[in-house]
Amino acid sequence: MNQRLIDPAAHRRGDEDGLAAEWNDDATRVLVVGDGHVPVDPDGHLVLIAPARFDAGRACSPRLFLGVDDCGRAHFAVAGSHDDVAVVGRASGLREAIPVLGARDADLAVRAVALANWHATHTHCSRCGHATDVAAAGHLRRCPADTSEHFPRTDPAVIVLIVDGDDRALLGRHPSWGPGRFATFAGFVEPGESLEQAVHREVGEEVGLRLEDVQYVASQPWPFPSSLMIAFSAKAVAGEVRVDGVEIEVARWFSREDLTEAIAAGEVVMPGSASISSRLIEGWYGTAMPAGPTW
Ligand SMILES: [Zn+2]
Repeated sequence: MNQRLIDPAAHRRGDEDGLAAEWNDDATRVLVVGDGHVPVDPDGHLVLIAPARFDAGRACSPRLFLGVDDCGRAHFAVAGSHDDVAVVGRASGLREAIPVLGARDADLAVRAVALANWHATHTHCSRCGHATDVAAAGHLRRCPADTSEHFPRTDPAVIVLIVDGDDRALLGRHPSWGPGRFATFAGFVEPGESLEQAVHREVGEEVGLRLEDVQYVASQPWPFPSSLMIAFSAKAVAGEVRVDGVEIEVARWFSREDLTEAIAAGEVVMPGSASISSRLIEGWYGTAMPAGPTW
């Protein structure tokens, strides 16, 4: 379903001369990622600049090759300060940017931020501690001391919408969340676990429920800093909800009417529309969610 409008052109990542020539082409576009933020113009488009403008800002940052658009223009991401390179546009975090960007820009922004996050936190070799070099146009880091190769990391996390026999949805809130915030249940996949096992374990730990009919729904890259959310739906086997008090403070069953009323009354604040949690809840709800604050 997800249309990828930028071709990642992975076969070009080793072509250093070719990519250096692309950088010298004025048609090439550069997305400057500043501390997890991307520049968005008032019309809801990413602000992309010519490489010369980035170079003029004297910023020094590896060029991360994102791919080629359907006009053949190369796209790169670089980490840098928006002020230094005089990028216009509002510096936006992904939660804020994704709902306003079109599919192509959202895809570019997510991949750029995910890659930039990885470089920012993986500067040294995990085997020997030596500083690593950027390779493969930003899609690899190599250790010069022991030649080990380090690839961008993605941390899988499962997220699940649970319904009961009356087609009510179970939503919960973490103790640290602001008042009224509710969402579906989520957790990281542990080493050696299948996605389905992770769903059963997380829900068992957080709310003490057994599940059946666990079905894959969709996935979404979620680079905060490096997650991939893998979404499921599931049915609760009859039983009582017992929150663990640590990860989940309150869990409540909602019928569609309950949820409509709770949102209208301001008792419940839904996840922001950028999140897959919001899509899961909306998929169950059946129509667009009633207007109300989100988080
Ligand atoms: Zn090393």
